[in-house]
Amino acid sequence: MKRILVTGGAGFIGSHLCDRLIKEGNDVICLDNYFTGNKKNIEHLINHPYFELVRHDVIQPYFAEVDQIYNLACPASPVHYQYNPIKTTKTSVMGAINMLGLAKRINARVLQASTSEVYGDPEIHPQTENYWGNVNPIGIRSCYDEGKRCAETLFMDYHKQNQVDIKIMRIFNTYGPNMHPNDGRVVSNFIMQALKGEDITIYGDGSQTRSFQYVDDLVEGMIRMMNSEDFIGPVNIGNPNEFTILELAQKIINLTQSKSKIIHQKLPMDDPMKRQPDINLAKEKLNNWEPIIQLDEGLVKTIEYFK
Ligand code: NAD
Ligand code: UDP
Repeated sequence: MKRILVTGGAGFIGSHLCDRLIKEGNDVICLDNYFTGNKKNIEHLINHPYFELVRHDVIQPYFAEVDQIYNLACPASPVHYQYNPIKTTKTSVMGAINMLGLAKRINARVLQASTSEVYGDPEIHPQTENYWGNVNPIGIRSCYDEGKRCAETLFMDYHKQNQVDIKIMRIFNTYGPNMHPNDGRVVSNFIMQALKGEDITIYGDGSQTRSFQYVDDLVEGMIRMMNSEDFIGPVNIGNPNEFTILELAQKIINLTQSKSKIIHQKLPMDDPMKRQPDINLAKEKLNNWEPIIQLDEGLVKTIEYFK
């Protein structure tokens, strides 16, 4: 049995990770300030003898004796991370410093939930881990992108300077049950709109692409990464099957048999035009990890949840 701290554990991804870690017989502390997370996501774990829930903000130091730390605390939807951009940068940067400081003191291994956003609006396609990215440092996405980039820098420097046992994982667009209905990201928006018969809001002409990963595949990759030896990353974890946002809208309309119409709204500033992970490194280093659940199957499960 390992003692494991999950920051952001009441959020979408964190709640699936807590579930899996408890199922595997670990002792889990779920830390969250509930900015975008919800106790409902982990309600069923609350009476479990090896599950603890802590209300805490990662911009403040936290102390507990654990073996592993998964650092997920940070709003991930553009709507939410842009609501208070200064707080978003603080969460990424000070959260990273606090979790790295803790890992250093107690000799724990710490995994950073980084993001494909470190590549910005990429000029190479698909994105490989050695690409440095194309990020606007002063735009509306910068609080998140630069916050996450700085967190990666801190992880590497704590590793080089203080030999902290780190892992960096760059997560590509992930969806599934437990996403907040008002999360604001594209999969939850389109499913909610389709189920309610409201207009489907495509930003821009819908030709921009994303590659969507089902949450169970991500959690499998995260656990493999955390428990890998002699490999710190960064590593891309995502599903390389790429779709335009228009294709996604059409799929969701078909799967829900909705009468919703597609409408077009203004494309937000700095919205990346394409995104697709190169996952060769993950396959090589993480025991042939690759995504198993493809978009149609994952959407059916997610639509069922939102219903
Ligand atoms: P989410 O918003 O559902 O979860 C984030 C969680 O962190 C929430 O429970 C929130 O309340 C908590 N949180 C936010 N600020 C905090 C703070 N200051 N202190 C403590 N808790 C705080 O988003 P998610 O999709 O589950 O994302 C989880 C992590 O994975 C994030 O770090 C995100 O950047 C990263 N990520 C997600 C995706 C994706 O597609 N879902 C892609 C790339 C990276
Ligand atoms: N998007 C959209 N309609 C929505 C929400 C998002 O067309 O209601 C687009 C958005 O402009 C982007 C893509 O879908 O091009 C993915 O957006 P999301 O916010 O899910 O994630 P990110 O841009 O961070 O990848």
